[in-house]
Amino acid sequence: MRTVTTLPELRTARLSLKGTVGLVPTMGYLHEGHLSLIRQARAECEHVVVSIFVNPTQFGPNEDLSKYPRDLERDLSLIEPLGVDFVWTPTAEVMYPTGYQTWVEVEAITRPLEGSMRPGHFKGVTTVVAKLFNGVQPHKAYFGQKDAQQQTVIRQMVRDLNFTLEVVVCPTVREADGLAMSSRNKYLEGENRQAALVLFHALSAAKDLYEKGEKSAEALRTKMKEIIEAEPHARMQYVSCADFDTLEELEQVKGKALLSMAVLIGKTRLIDNFILG
Ligand code: AMP
Repeated sequence: MRTVTTLPELRTARLSLKGTVGLVPTMGYLHEGHLSLIRQARAECEHVVVSIFVNPTQFGPNEDLSKYPRDLERDLSLIEPLGVDFVWTPTAEVMYPTGYQTWVEVEAITRPLEGSMRPGHFKGVTTVVAKLFNGVQPHKAYFGQKDAQQQTVIRQMVRDLNFTLEVVVCPTVREADGLAMSSRNKYLEGENRQAALVLFHALSAAKDLYEKGEKSAEALRTKMKEIIEAEPHARMQYVSCADFDTLEELEQVKGKALLSMAVLIGKTRLIDNFILG
């Protein structure tokens, strides 16, 4: 399996692929969630490209860019058996050379939820994903439902900028006890690992309530809030019950809705979501 870094290396590697190409963009420190995306791409495309890049422009000044877990050797050994054609590992200098000044920004749907807590985050995400798409020219690109707003924002960008590729969204992969897999779970130690289950428990309780007939979005948000507030190691950033497509907060759940939340467990910021309807 080849690894390429520079744009000329990428172009040569890409030109050697004939037939459909699936791209799986990641920030590395891979887990089963990432591997499920690669397996799905493998099943649906003739060629698979994985990118590994911890994108500095999607981290805020007080976020965990320098501490974000990295282990390229381990990542490559996890990818190797999956039949990936090549891995693109650009450096920050390849992506953002001196004098860089072009950005991609999606408007309304980047404002609530993650956007409200992480100003500038989605501008970094959409810019880097557009650059990954332009570099790799995939027919399909694979994203996880774990990052619900991210996949919504990327689908919007693909429509708005006439990218001729299909965005494929794959289900969230969880640990046996329900915790959504995340590279940041590495930070969870001792009691915080158990406390992190509060996200899954709060989402499950709200979904149960909905399935028993509760259609008031406020009642579902309150249920999630109560469960998070009862966990001493958890600090809620937001809970939401929003329209699945517009991400606007709902009063009543009628069609497809997104239950989502961001919670600090100690210093580790976790997000999770369930789909209703
Ligand atoms: P990241 O490396 O965290 O930027 O994630 C790369 C891709 O993997 C994104 O599309 C994520 O949504 C997806 N992903 C991360 N965690 C999971 C998970 N637990 N299940 C499914 N997909 C995931």
